[in-house]
Amino acid sequence: MFERRPTRQIRVGNEKTGVVLIGGGLPGSDGKPTTPAPVSVQTMTAGYTYDIDRCVTEINRLAAAGADVVRVAVPERKDTEALSEILNQTSVPIVADVHFHFKRALEAVEAGVHKIRLNPGNIQDRDQVNAVIDACRDAGIPIRVGVNEGSIIERKDKQKRKEELGKFFEKSSATGTLGAKHAHLLALIIAKLEEYMEIFYERDFLDVAISCKSMDAAFTVAAYKEVSARFDEPLHLGVTHAGPKETGAIRSIAALSGLLTQGVGDTVRISYANDPVYEVEDGLELLYSLGLREREGVELIACPTCGRIQVDLFTLVQDVRAKLASEITVPMKVAVMGCVVNGPGEAEGADVAVFAGDRKGIIYVQGERVANIPEHEILDRLLAECLTFQRRVLDGEAKLGEKVVEIVPPDPIGELGSGVEKIASGNVAKATGLTINET
Ligand code: SF4
Repeated sequence: MFERRPTRQIRVGNEKTGVVLIGGGLPGSDGKPTTPAPVSVQTMTAGYTYDIDRCVTEINRLAAAGADVVRVAVPERKDTEALSEILNQTSVPIVADVHFHFKRALEAVEAGVHKIRLNPGNIQDRDQVNAVIDACRDAGIPIRVGVNEGSIIERKDKQKRKEELGKFFEKSSATGTLGAKHAHLLALIIAKLEEYMEIFYERDFLDVAISCKSMDAAFTVAAYKEVSARFDEPLHLGVTHAGPKETGAIRSIAALSGLLTQGVGDTVRISYANDPVYEVEDGLELLYSLGLREREGVELIACPTCGRIQVDLFTLVQDVRAKLASEITVPMKVAVMGCVVNGPGEAEGADVAVFAGDRKGIIYVQGERVANIPEHEILDRLLAECLTFQRRVLDGEAKLGEKVVEIVPPDPIGELGSGVEKIASGNVAKATGLTINET
C-alpha cells in the first residue's frame, strides 16, 4: 500500500527461532536485489535478565503475543551469564541491549544471542566498537546502532558538552521545520551517527540497523526522515520514554504512522511504562491498520455507543475481544454494534456480526441471520458462531470477507424490542448500567 524506502536487509535469528528479515529492497551481499520484508514488531522485557525463569516466562509471553524479536537488558555479567540458558528455553530471536560496557556485548555474542544493540552515546571507544564488530561478524549476527535523545549529548566532559550544545547544523533539510533547540539536537545526532557509522564502514561491516529515538513525536519524525535520507541501513522506529500506555499510545502512533506512511521504517518498537505485551499488541495493530502486515486473528469493529444503546455494550465488547483473541486465528472481521442505525451496514461488511436492541441481539454470519437472542446469551453465541465460521474457512467451505446476502434491517419494534420513536429520540431505558467512570 505504501511504497517502502529501499534499504539493505539484515537477518535476525536462526533455524531454531526462525529468521526475521528486517528491511530490504537494495542488493544483498550477493549483488542480487532483496525484497523488503514485512515490518516487524519488537519489544523488550521489563524484568531482570539474570532471573532466568522469570525472564524466560516473560519472553515466551511476548512471543505468544506476536513479538517477532525480543530485547533483553544485560547491564551486568550475571545477565550475560544467564543468556545461554534463556536461549535454550526460548524460540524467538533475542537481542542483547548493551550500554557502557562493551564486554557485555562480547559475552552476549559468546552466549549465542541473535543481535546486539550498541548505544553511540555510551560506547564510543573505537577499539571497543571494533571488537564488538569483529565478534558479531564471526558469529554472523547484526548490530543495531541505537541513538537515543537522552544519551547522545556529552555529559561527563563539560567543555565538550558546551561545544556540542553550541554547534549549528546547516545542512539538515529538517531544521526548517524544527525549533532552534531541536535543530541543534538533530545536528548533533546526525553528526555523531555519521561518525559512528564510519567505524562500521571502515571495518566493512554492513550488517547494521539504525534507530534514532526521541520522546518528542514531531522530533522523532524529523530525525528519522533525516536519517533515512542519509543512510541505507534498515530503520528500527520508536518513540522512547513514551510514558503510560494511555498517552504513550497516541505519541507513539502519531510518530510511527507518520513515518510508516512515508515508507520510512522496517521494524517498530512501541514503548510503554506498562506490561510490554501491550507494546506488541499495539505495534501489531498499527501495522495491520496501515496494511503493512497481514492480520492474524480477529479485526474487531465496535460502535462507541450513544443514547440509543439498550445493552451493556462496553462490557460485551471487552468480553468478545478477550474471548476471540485466544480462540480465533483466522483474520475474520467481527462487528459488535449497538443498534439498527449503523448495525446493518457494518454487519454486512463483517464476517460475523451482532447488533443489539432492547436487551437482545441479532447475530449474522456473512449477512445471513443466524440468531435473535437475549443479551446474556450474546457472548457465548457470538463466540460459537465465530468458531464455526473459522472451522468452515479452514476447511475451505467459506471465504473471509465474502458477503453472502444483503441484510434487511430488522423491525426495531418487534424483533429488537426497541420503539422507533424511542431510538430516534435517544429516550431508551438502559438494560444494564454502563461501566463509565463519571468522576
Ligand atoms: S447509533 Fe447505534 S450503532 Fe451508532 S453509536 Fe449509537 S448505539 Fe452504536
